[in-house]
Amino acid sequence: MNATILRRQLAERLAAVEDRLAAACRKAGRCRDEVTLVGVTKTVSTEMAAGLVDLGVVNLGESRPQELWRKAPVLPRSVVWHLIGHLQRNKVERTLPLVEWIHSVDSLRLLEALEHEAAKQKRIAKVLLEVNASHESSKHGFVPADVTGLSPALGKLKHVQVHGLMTMAALEEDAERCRPTFAALRDLRDRLRQESGLALEHLSMGMSNDYAVAVEEGATMVRIGSALFQGVTA
Ligand SMILES: *Cc1c(COP(=O)(O)O)cnc(C)c1O
Repeated sequence: MNATILRRQLAERLAAVEDRLAAACRKAGRCRDEVTLVGVTKTVSTEMAAGLVDLGVVNLGESRPQELWRKAPVLPRSVVWHLIGHLQRNKVERTLPLVEWIHSVDSLRLLEALEHEAAKQKRIAKVLLEVNASHESSKHGFVPADVTGLSPALGKLKHVQVHGLMTMAALEEDAERCRPTFAALRDLRDRLRQESGLALEHLSMGMSNDYAVAVEEGATMVRIGSALFQGVTA
């Protein structure tokens, strides 16, 4: 692989994503630094992921714990890792020390397993609750109607900090059709905030297809893979 060409291609992709992010922020009257770009490296090599880090993207996301275990040790220690996919309870012990953020807490049992393991490891786990806001049966996540009811359970956590909500919109050709899903996640966050008294400052929503709309609807973390990497083949 020719490193110079790779770097140039990646830099172009990143610049295009940054342009759209900046435009979406402007349109919504938000500051660019209110939105964290998480580069999703699940489909690319560690070499390619390292190329993105070299360009200044320090937040990287993986959807499979095993892939995160594999990549994290060989990438720079400066990387802030985000687990964005389903976490089985038997993988909590090994994943917790490697990640700064877990976006994909999708059950009370997982929340309890994280509390238990974080206490054991004397860590604080920073998490988001995944919500199946698009109501697709194929998706993980809490049912929206159940989320405010989680408030008492959240109040008992000592080693897990819940910082907000995460969702995946349905795949739509027209990103505008994802807007109601994102708006619904924001409303749900507002209600859970009222109910729980937690700050819940984060909304992780928006992928390659729909991140501009998600930013307009209040996303603070966007998770972008293919817009950065697809077709980068040096
Ligand atoms: C793969 C993935 C993404 C990135 O998707 P792209 O469409 O490639 O940007 C974001 N979030 C989650 C949970 C994913 O699994």
